[in-house]
Amino acid sequence: MQKFQTLIAALIVGVAGLLPAAQAQDKGTIGISMPTKSSARWISDGASMVKYFQAKGYKPDLQYADDDIPNQLAQIENMITKGSKVLVIAAIDGTTLSDALQKAADKGIKVISYDRLIRGSKNVDFYTTFDNFQVGVLQAGSIVDKLGLKQGKGPFNIELFGGSPDDNNAFFFYNGAMSVLDPYIKSGKLVVRSKQMGMDKVGTLRWDGAVAQARMDNLLSAFYSGQRVDAVLSPYDGLSIGILSSLKGVGYGTPKQPIPVVSGQDAEVQSVKSMMAGEQYSTVFKDTRELAKVTVDLVDAVLAGKQPVINDTKTYNNGVKVVPSYLLKPVSVDASNWKTVLIGSGYYTEAQVK
Ligand code: BGC
Repeated sequence: MQKFQTLIAALIVGVAGLLPAAQAQDKGTIGISMPTKSSARWISDGASMVKYFQAKGYKPDLQYADDDIPNQLAQIENMITKGSKVLVIAAIDGTTLSDALQKAADKGIKVISYDRLIRGSKNVDFYTTFDNFQVGVLQAGSIVDKLGLKQGKGPFNIELFGGSPDDNNAFFFYNGAMSVLDPYIKSGKLVVRSKQMGMDKVGTLRWDGAVAQARMDNLLSAFYSGQRVDAVLSPYDGLSIGILSSLKGVGYGTPKQPIPVVSGQDAEVQSVKSMMAGEQYSTVFKDTRELAKVTVDLVDAVLAGKQPVINDTKTYNNGVKVVPSYLLKPVSVDASNWKTVLIGSGYYTEAQVK
């Protein structure tokens, strides 16, 4: 009998525990438009947002666009038609969404630009991202440190890679990196033998590793016969892996011809393994769980009619207005700290990167 009563009591508590959650399920649908599944970070961003939105009682509608602009547009229009209350968008091309965002605004749907700034539209309400200039500073900083430039070593040969020119972030990464590298290029301690500088020359459309690999092949054959490249600025791990394949293809990676210092971003598994193998030198970790959490909290505040927490109101002008932003801090990672940063934070288990 006692057991039976305990069971009933447990059931009542259990059902009561479910009630608020069941009611909370009515907070509405949130459209989440992510660019691609070809990079693990976006999968992680999406999964974390789904988890946090559900925990707050929303119905997330998560879509990936296969890096195809018309596809993303169609998915967003569909989200608007289906009555999403808010759109969270990481745009493939930051300039092609204006008409859809006008439709959203006409229906009172708020728009959050996620990680990448949507340009050319007044209908972007908030922006959540990392300090993207700082990402570039960290990438270049790791190259400068490893080469010993501050200790006066050099000159060294370096080649530069940029991200996708339709992604606003790519310019911030490049400008951040160049703020560190430029003085050494001017003093001659860093030499860009190809002379290819500036986003118009070094950009990599759609962040495609194969495109970076092909460009590195060309640079090596055109400018490095009998010469060594000592460092490569790469803004994203997917490009770094392509660049490293190209380098290894022409014989880098031996004691006589060590791999150049290659940077990266996102702490993708393949790059963490590459760092452990002594190939890629560094990456930049951006905790996508944090970005997802900040975004979900922001959306929840906006829908509750409250003022969301933002920490930057100057940096991100999208060509029409300065978008109020929340910026998180990126962290530089190399063989010396990957364990503490990536395993210690629970972002990966040790087994995932072994
Ligand atoms: C993101 C980076 C990512 C890149 C390629 C950028 O907009 O900020 O984290 O490496 O896109 O997906």
